[in-house]
Amino acid sequence: PLEARDIKKRFGSHEVLKGLSLEAHKGDVITLIGASGSGKSTFLRCMNLLEQPDEGELIVHNEPIHFRPTKHGREPADWKQVERLRAKLSMVFQNFNLWSHMTLLENVIEAPVHVLKKPRKQAIDEARALLDRVGLLERADYYPTQMSGGQQQRGAIARALAMDPEVMLFDEPTSALDPELVGDVLKVMRGLADEGRTMILVTHEIAFARDVSSQVIYLHQGVIEESGTPAEVLDNPRSERLRQFLAPKH
Ligand code: ATP
Ligand code: MG
Repeated sequence: PLEARDIKKRFGSHEVLKGLSLEAHKGDVITLIGASGSGKSTFLRCMNLLEQPDEGELIVHNEPIHFRPTKHGREPADWKQVERLRAKLSMVFQNFNLWSHMTLLENVIEAPVHVLKKPRKQAIDEARALLDRVGLLERADYYPTQMSGGQQQRGAIARALAMDPEVMLFDEPTSALDPELVGDVLKVMRGLADEGRTMILVTHEIAFARDVSSQVIYLHQGVIEESGTPAEVLDNPRSERLRQFLAPKH
């Protein structure tokens, strides 16, 4: 469902991504790991065009994104195409990003009703099923501020799922959570992996990555330094740098 080829991105004179590629096929769970500043979020943001890659190709659901040159670099040639393809990707961020002026249920039905043009009644029925699935049915009428971080994050996952995306992108979905709330969110994510959802995620939860990933990619300063199965990358790192990165912190 998603392919990135030789993606490069610079901010001013700082080249943050130096030619990154990945291919996510249906059911793949690809995990990006690496030190702070290595470019994980930028790479993820390039994949759904929240950032414009300066060079490289993106192919979403077999459609290459078309770019045109601008004074400063380039931009998508067809924002309609971007909108259409973005609806097939959905992203869950580190900081809970439910809309604060809407109840949980309203958050979940917003895009199905307004983007997919689903009848409201159908959207509500589907939203309730999704909320049940992430364990939040009884919170449907709560506002985000009335929920814990873990509940908000599971709500954000339900909202992402409501679009039935081809690929789900997660940027450190548990790193802003109190430790006791992490497990419930990981459980929901593991369920998605088990049902064959295609996922690309950034996480510091190495044990979780080992469990669910089909591929692990280790980024260092905008370059893929190691990539392979969890057994290869996490259990038999080749570089000293990755070994250090994986070593338990004291
Ligand atoms: P973390 O683990 O801390 O989230 P990361 O691997 O996600 O780090 P990125 O957020 O992708 O790292 O940032 C990579 C580099 O790009 C950093 O040096 C960062 O300062 C820089 N950077 C990211 N976004 C911008 C921006 N909008 N403008 C300028 N520099 C940026
Ligand atoms: Mg980041």
